[in-house]
Amino acid sequence: MKRKDVKTIIPVRCFTCGKLIGDKWEEFAKRVKAGENSGKVLDDLGVKRYCCRRMLLSHVEIIDEIIKFYERPSMDKEEETM
Ligand SMILES: [Zn+2]
Repeated sequence: MKRKDVKTIIPVRCFTCGKLIGDKWEEFAKRVKAGENSGKVLDDLGVKRYCCRRMLLSHVEIIDEIIKFYERPSMDKEEETM
């Protein structure tokens, strides 16, 4: 079930509470990139504690920079909802 086409550059678990978040990251990043509200996506994924939300939120900006360098034709085109 696990896909490895997206590099997970964040810790697998929240530093603060130990909740598993590595498996949420891929979907979170994808949906935020598609234009969804990041807070709403976190709610949908069941990331309710602020410590975990903060970890994902703080990393979405980093991957945004990284993705620019890794854009490839083979990557799924996300629909721009803006
Ligand atoms: Zn946490």
